[in-house]
Amino acid sequence: MTEVLAYLGLGANEGDRERNIRTALSSLGAAPGVRVVRCSKLVSSALFGEGPEQGEYLNGVAELATSLPAPALLSICRALEVAAGRRLPALRNHPRPLDLDLLLYGRETIDTRDLIVPHPRMWQRPFVLLPLRELGVDLALMPRPVRPLVVQDPAKFAALCSHWQAGACTTGLVPTMGALHPGHQSLIRKARAECDRVLVTIFVNPLQFSAGEDFAAYPRTLERDVQLCAEAGADAVFAPEPLQMYDSDFCSNVAVGAAAMTMEGAIRPTHFQGVATVVARLFALSRPHNAYFGKKDAQQLAVIQRMTLDLGFPIRVVECPIVREADGLAMSSRNVYLAPADRIASTVLVRALRAAQQAFASGERDRDRLLQVASSVLLQEPRAELDYLELRGEGDLRLLPAGPVVLGRMLVAAKFRAGKRVVRLLDNLSLAEPSEIGLSAGSVLFQGDRP
Ligand code: AMP
Repeated sequence: MTEVLAYLGLGANEGDRERNIRTALSSLGAAPGVRVVRCSKLVSSALFGEGPEQGEYLNGVAELATSLPAPALLSICRALEVAAGRRLPALRNHPRPLDLDLLLYGRETIDTRDLIVPHPRMWQRPFVLLPLRELGVDLALMPRPVRPLVVQDPAKFAALCSHWQAGACTTGLVPTMGALHPGHQSLIRKARAECDRVLVTIFVNPLQFSAGEDFAAYPRTLERDVQLCAEAGADAVFAPEPLQMYDSDFCSNVAVGAAAMTMEGAIRPTHFQGVATVVARLFALSRPHNAYFGKKDAQQLAVIQRMTLDLGFPIRVVECPIVREADGLAMSSRNVYLAPADRIASTVLVRALRAAQQAFASGERDRDRLLQVASSVLLQEPRAELDYLELRGEGDLRLLPAGPVVLGRMLVAAKFRAGKRVVRLLDNLSLAEPSEIGLSAGSVLFQGDRP
């Protein structure tokens, strides 16, 4: 194999920093297939970014000529870090006797679980940029990683997912219809914490709207959505056009069972078939390890869990708690369409659910009396036109017989009319879901579902 010029970031802030770096460089130079061509000045500076109290870092960059593939070079670097006394797993921004980062490998881009080249955080780090310039590297010629990658074409999205999976990355899919808000971002952040690569889909799916519903008027804010995805740590945004997802001959749908014809399904009879079809299509395209859905749409979650089981997708469906505004209204892309008076009135949904929850906490166990408690709150708000109020079994939302309940989830949907526009809002709460914690200024996360 011909030699490639590679650049290695060098750092140390524990022990004899310079000695650790020089020893590593001579070991590297002694490895077959590696020549250390030259090294920049080593410069001392305080920790860049946030981390615990620690000593100053000594940093520089080494230029190597190597005939080794990048992963083999990386393995040598990891072994040298351990030999210098580095503790593993290495915590970001914690003190270390030696840090060797593969910054550049020729002009190649590499994007696997263990290695992203060019190093994605290189451009923000003066302690890397200055030595690279000292060595005469023209950074303008280097491919700069873009995150999130925005992809419109389904085949390209599938190829990107395959590429990451071939690089041993675990992938997490977050399907959305866009007009993102902190509720969606909480799903992306959870996926970020659990997966190597996070894929957000933004697609207002025509199959789940029937004639006369708000498909055309559904808010579309792609540019802002991409920013919110970047903020929450997404690696890719898939935003296809309807014809790219369903060509003109498209005719295969995922049928859903009788449970999907109650509650939302009773009001929107083709809705869940449309949801199940698009989610199956997204699963087939991306084949993620995990897929993240909000409990905000509890019935949708139950339909998807059933479909995933029935069709045998080897995907872990992850349930995420409901994110609420400070006054308790569940966040929704449709909330922006509420008239001011309806926005105030809209908290009646969560107030009704909490009233039932309080009654349950005080010992009320009768299904119908719990429903009455919620319904009497709803009746006090004339602006809310009730679509349904139900108390169902946790998880699969099965019907509960009349009489005492042990646990349950109460689900509500109501319409608010703003002139000609009708805004439908959904909410649900477990009867045993008492605790709330602050999420960020202006929003509240319900935590009660978590063990
Ligand atoms: P949508 O864009 O409305 O289709 O929602 C996409 C995903 O985000 C679904 O899994 C929703 O359940 C979830 N989601 C929407 N609003 C919230 C919220 N307020 N809290 C948590 N998840 C939500």
